[in-house]
Amino acid sequence: MTSDSFRCAGCRLDVPLAAPGTAHRNHCPTCLTSRHLDVRPGDRRADCGGRMTPLTISVRSDGEWQIIHHCLSCGTLSANRIAGDDNALSLLRLAVRPLPALRTGALLAL
Ligand SMILES: [Zn+2]
Ligand SMILES: [Zn+2]
Repeated sequence: MTSDSFRCAGCRLDVPLAAPGTAHRNHCPTCLTSRHLDVRPGDRRADCGGRMTPLTISVRSDGEWQIIHHCLSCGTLSANRIAGDDNALSLLRLAVRPLPALRTGALLAL
């Protein structure tokens, strides 16, 4: 793994960190899987390193889409901006999928 790309934990794609629309790409543009690396976007201060699966899409009041990621190791939920080259079909699938059951209150941490 080099400093300017990462290996996707979901589909094994080597993902370049540079992406249109975001300075801190942290998820795979193909399957949208992420890794738990950040406490705040881009800071790389999370010790977890767990695999984060895309849970659902949320739309901010300004219309920007965010992917809600769920860490399979520690249960953390985080919201991430989509990147300009994220797979549109994967995003749409996520957006129309019913929200999986969550532990009560988990979404309040966002
Ligand atoms: Zn992937
Ligand atoms: Zn985690």
